[in-house]
Amino acid sequence: MASPLTFSPTFSLQLSAVLLLLLSSSSSSSAAATLINESSFLLCLSSKFPSATHLSSVVYTQNSSSFDSLLQFSAQNPYLSTPSTPNKPLYIITPVNEAQIQASVICSKRHGLQIRVRSGGHDYEGLSYLALEPFLILDLIEYRAIDINVGERTAWVQAGATLGELYYGLASTSLGFPAGVCTTLGLGAVTVFTVSRTVEEGATGLMGIWQNVAPRLPDELVIRVILQAATTRSTVQASFNSLYLGSAQDLLSVMKLRFPELGLRAEDCQQMSWVDSTMYFDGFPSGTPREALLNRTKSGRNSFKATSDFVVEPISEEGLRGLWGKLLEEPRGLMIWEPLGGKINAVSETETPFPHRRGNLYNIQHYVNWDAGADAQRYIDWIRSLYSFVTPYVTRNPRGAYLNYKDLDLGRNINGPNTSYETASVWGLKYFKGNFRRLALVKGRVDKDNYFRNEQSIPPLLA
Ligand SMILES: Cc1cc2nc3c(=O)[nH]c(=O)nc-3n(C[C@H](O)[C@H](O)[C@H](O)COP(=O)(O)OP(=O)(O)OC[C@H]3O[C@@H](n4cnc5c(N)ncnc54)[C@H](O)[C@@H]3O)c2cc1C
Repeated sequence: MASPLTFSPTFSLQLSAVLLLLLSSSSSSSAAATLINESSFLLCLSSKFPSATHLSSVVYTQNSSSFDSLLQFSAQNPYLSTPSTPNKPLYIITPVNEAQIQASVICSKRHGLQIRVRSGGHDYEGLSYLALEPFLILDLIEYRAIDINVGERTAWVQAGATLGELYYGLASTSLGFPAGVCTTLGLGAVTVFTVSRTVEEGATGLMGIWQNVAPRLPDELVIRVILQAATTRSTVQASFNSLYLGSAQDLLSVMKLRFPELGLRAEDCQQMSWVDSTMYFDGFPSGTPREALLNRTKSGRNSFKATSDFVVEPISEEGLRGLWGKLLEEPRGLMIWEPLGGKINAVSETETPFPHRRGNLYNIQHYVNWDAGADAQRYIDWIRSLYSFVTPYVTRNPRGAYLNYKDLDLGRNINGPNTSYETASVWGLKYFKGNFRRLALVKGRVDKDNYFRNEQSIPPLLA
């Protein structure tokens, strides 16, 4: 990285001198224009950043030696972020305070640059670090303070903190926090289990039962299912993957009552602390030190493509058998069925943007991954065919989708700031149902020119 640039009148003069020199050279006018823009953008930042800011510790240009590694560091889907991607940001800014964020927004807007905000970089379509228009990344990697107040049972978490960092922070307390499975995104003993059954071992019948039982279990118990071709590739396997907020003994009693067909045994159950359960679900080998939760990069990131659905009526046995056929086609594909119900039903559909509540049985994530260098299109085609196959079994008008499993196949904004509400409704109604219009009206009030946008951002709607 270049030597630190501190905001000072001297720095402004140096930049002005560079500009004059460039303007006097006629042979490299486009390079000069780029540098002039860059200089003027940096000047803007330096004039607005708090005076003690060392620009080079916060702003990375494409010439910074650490630019590429910083760009890749939080990019969670490798296939979207190859080094040759044509959509590289012009700058990466890693603010540490609000004043730096405000300055970045003002200067970007003034210089016609788009902003992509990146917190953990898990966006399925890479929208936090890729863009077609000239842009910069506001990377919140340094913006990750966690302040836990055990007495008040609250935690303030800055946007750049990972779930792993939050879980680790909670480990020494008696508190837990229900969030995602992936920790790069306390509590007394909990019990976990993963029990797998192939089709020959009764998976089809069990899935028939699960669809009715799982969304209606007590709030303390969740059982999701991962469906995929077994390693032999000759059959499909359903892995029932569960968290229970209580002891193994109590769990066995609940299971005997609610889902005896699974045949859960004491030896299938593992009791552990809540924080260790977060590592269990994220696939850390048993005995991994908790400090692994603080690691923001995971080894072996796979390229992937995913999409989602919601189900309101149990899928018939015939439908399930058809699905097994699809899964057998692609050993790198899988489906994750996550039950709804419980606390999700306690909130009305219009209270938060997430609308898929009462009446929904479960959510499906359709997912496929592949190795570096493999033919990505083959896998993408397969997931599209799976999505098409399940159409008769999932919600319709609109067909629901989960925003966290973002999928640009569902539609995308075009025409830069002039996005159309009608076009965006195609995917917006899938994610937000009736809340989409309300969100667009809010957007119309706070950002009517649609400066903050991406391929699936909410378009402004003026009342
Ligand atoms: C390996 C993996 C596991 C996952 N597991 C789960 C799971 O178990 N459950 C689940 O629900 N989801 C899961 N997800 C999906 C994940 O929750 C979403 O992708 C989520 O948006 C990721 O947040 P992030 O900060 O890492 O993403 P980013 O890519 O940083 O951001 C996502 C979007 O939000 C915008 N954004 C980021 N920060 C801000 C900000 N501070 N202000 C405004 N906009 C911002 C970005 O520009 C982008 O459009 C998983 C994703 C991956 C890759």
